[in-house]
Amino acid sequence: MPGPCRLCGAVVGVRASDGWRCAVCGWRVGDVPDAELPRPRIDVVYYLRYADRVKIGTTANPRQRLAAVMHDELLAFERGGRAVERERHTQFATIREGGEWFTATTELRAHAASLSGGVDPWDRYARWVAQALSA
Ligand SMILES: [Zn+2]
Repeated sequence: MPGPCRLCGAVVGVRASDGWRCAVCGWRVGDVPDAELPRPRIDVVYYLRYADRVKIGTTANPRQRLAAVMHDELLAFERGGRAVERERHTQFATIREGGEWFTATTELRAHAASLSGGVDPWDRYARWVAQALSA
């Protein structure tokens, strides 16, 4: 790949018929995101583990939000806003410890793992941003 991806910083590319594409987020190398345009709004539900608890919350600014919440590990991102967040809070109501914090049970961890599918959550997020930008 001629240079790092302008969107996610990855250096691994795949050769497509229309040039190089970032292997992580799918952005076409050479295309520069227009600085004049606002970044697309991507609402995500995040699963943040701290010790034996997991915070399930939502944000449209995950980097800013995660920097403000103490955590050990980002388990997963799920696309969606308040509605999805509410759905998960209801789904895991029996293990709710207070506010947006839940006990890190095997079930909750398995749910988060199934969302990630073995892919780094930030790589998934970069791909969603790239898809929204190229739409
Ligand atoms: Zn990329």
